[in-house]
Amino acid sequence: MDIIFHAVSAGILAEGLGEKRKRAIVFSMIIGINPDVLSNIGLFFWSKSTAYPLFHSLLFQGILCLVLLPINWRASFGGLLHIAVDVFTHQYSTRHLFYPSWKLEAFDGLNWYQADGIWIWSICWIILAALVWLKHGKRAGMAGPAGLSSGASHGAWNNRHL
Ligand SMILES: [Zn+2]
Repeated sequence: MDIIFHAVSAGILAEGLGEKRKRAIVFSMIIGINPDVLSNIGLFFWSKSTAYPLFHSLLFQGILCLVLLPINWRASFGGLLHIAVDVFTHQYSTRHLFYPSWKLEAFDGLNWYQADGIWIWSICWIILAALVWLKHGKRAGMAGPAGLSSGASHGAWNNRHL
């Protein structure tokens, strides 16, 4: 899946778990993109066939999640969410799940940037956009009447002082 999706979905997950602090949500978004970021940094040290599976494995992301749990449990699942999403949207991801122990040959996902995978990509984004709207759009909508009433009281304040 694309990196922006991973960032936003990890942020929404942390928020869904009750995280409200902006900094912590940004932190969860960074955790959400860590498999792709570390895979690319890893290319300086290893081949792609090592770097990518290593950071997209349950072993690495599971350990990272356990390390993060005591720091901020709400923000700690982004990496696991990333590989869960990639299993369906990045063709060979299931094979990396248990890297380096064994190669699971379960099924191949559809690449999100190719052919029918683009449908999956679109549907995932529609669902995510809906979740973002439920979390933020609604709140902004609710702020509308409150904003109006505060505007009205502001008006009243002005009137009083005219
Ligand atoms: Zn990835």
